[in-house]
Amino acid sequence: MGLFKDGSGDKPQEKFIVKRCPECHINLPVDATRCHSCKSRVGRVDRHGKARKVINWYSYLICIVAWGVFIFYLKWAFF
Ligand SMILES: [Zn+2]
Repeated sequence: MGLFKDGSGDKPQEKFIVKRCPECHINLPVDATRCHSCKSRVGRVDRHGKARKVINWYSYLICIVAWGVFIFYLKWAFF
């Protein structure tokens, strides 16, 4: 904050026409949202020409809730 950006590297998606799938490393069109080889979802291209992984918030939420219930159960059972 308070620093001026020089503008380089701000929009990496404009420099690439392909991106690599983070799972199977094949080349995909830069605007692809899903890998046609391994069917995983891919995000925007990063500055290295690799697609970002799309975070699956739903499974994260399920995981966190499951841990919360588990810890709650441990406390309830043993303390
Ligand atoms: Zn793939």
